[in-house]
Amino acid sequence: MSASIAEIAAQLQGYDPQALPADAVGAFLERLVSPVAQVEQVSVLDALGRVLAGDLVSPISVPPHDNSAMDGYAFDGAQLAAGALQLQVMGTALAGKAWQGRVGPGQCMKIMTGAIMPAGLDTVVPQELTKTLADGRVEIPAGLLQPGDNRRHAGEDLMEGQPALRAGERIGPAACGLIASLGIAQVDVFRRLKVAYFSTGDEILSLGEPRREGAVFDSNRYTVHGMLRRLGCEVIDLGVVRDEPALLERAFHDAASLADAIITSGGVSVGEADFTKAMMKKLGDVAFWKIAMRPGRPMAVGRIGNAALFGLPGNPVAVMVTFLAFVRPALLRMMGARVTQPVPLKARSGEAMRKKPGRTEYQRGIVTRGADGALEVRTTGNQGSGVLSSMVQANGLIVLHHAQGNVAVGDEVDVMMFEGGI
Ligand code: AMP
Ligand code: MG
Repeated sequence: MSASIAEIAAQLQGYDPQALPADAVGAFLERLVSPVAQVEQVSVLDALGRVLAGDLVSPISVPPHDNSAMDGYAFDGAQLAAGALQLQVMGTALAGKAWQGRVGPGQCMKIMTGAIMPAGLDTVVPQELTKTLADGRVEIPAGLLQPGDNRRHAGEDLMEGQPALRAGERIGPAACGLIASLGIAQVDVFRRLKVAYFSTGDEILSLGEPRREGAVFDSNRYTVHGMLRRLGCEVIDLGVVRDEPALLERAFHDAASLADAIITSGGVSVGEADFTKAMMKKLGDVAFWKIAMRPGRPMAVGRIGNAALFGLPGNPVAVMVTFLAFVRPALLRMMGARVTQPVPLKARSGEAMRKKPGRTEYQRGIVTRGADGALEVRTTGNQGSGVLSSMVQANGLIVLHHAQGNVAVGDEVDVMMFEGGI
């Protein structure tokens, strides 16, 4: 049985739901959620974006033999002590074929990249450093090489019997290649996490609905959908749910029965005249927080049935920031992934920023390289929590920490870059 909200709260020092430091949220959510148990086997192609369920022990060494890192000539490096060398070429070692003969002093083998190092040879001179003499011997100038140069060792990538990948690894393109390099075609991964989400608010329009005064199109379902897909979750879109108890109750019931986690947006701020909070309270074990942060102060967390609940604020930027800061690490934990703190980048601020100590601020930042080559960051301008275009312009979030005060031009600040690439 997992711990209740009250039990988790009792374990945490100085827990104050009315003024929760942003840095305290992670520890709470880590206790609230646990990894999925079910494991399934998938092909290496389908493993992309999945989470490895057990350590993957290498059945072979990669590379399996000492081999050449260059096209050139292989020889016994002990001879280098004598200065320049003139070596007789005994044959050619091609990639994929082992050379059976022996090569002695004064001799060498022409060798291709990836070819197995012939017995007794430990050094390769790249072709371009050599000169071919009139009698066919190759000359290697003195002072350019050390014994052992340009030889790849058997097992230097992976050693037979050693874990090549650890449980909890989120399998990216590089890991897919690594798995294949071991000759492994199928891997055990955790089942996909199912996440249901819906938007709340009578003023929220779904796409296709006619516009009306005071109403806005739903953007939160689309940003949440995108962020969940990027994480590799199975998404269950429950639409926009109007502010009526029966509709909200049905949506929460459906979400809790279908999904491992529920994400809602809107309806959790103070003084909300709607039924969202009341329904969360009625159906689940839920805490309502005021987080010392900007944007994204109000948030509800807890459980409804067996599903974890993340009740995000309504403002579009606040949704993305609270998702990235808190929900994403919690979902990764549920997915069975090892959660590592993203490493912030340090950049020089190109502008002054007003900041009150006592809350964490996430400003939308554009990082560029300054004239002197150093990283510089500027804000996108209007930092309103409804200005979603600021998230599109930004390439990262400037994190102004809890205790931090005003930032002057030239001060170094932390930036969490948006993910991308591999
Ligand atoms: P709330 O937290 O429900 O008070 O919402 C705060 C602000 O966010 C209001 O201006 C809402 O209109 C806006 N908002 C709430 N949900 C959405 C949504 N799904 N898409 C776009 N804006 C929203
Ligand atoms: Mg609302």
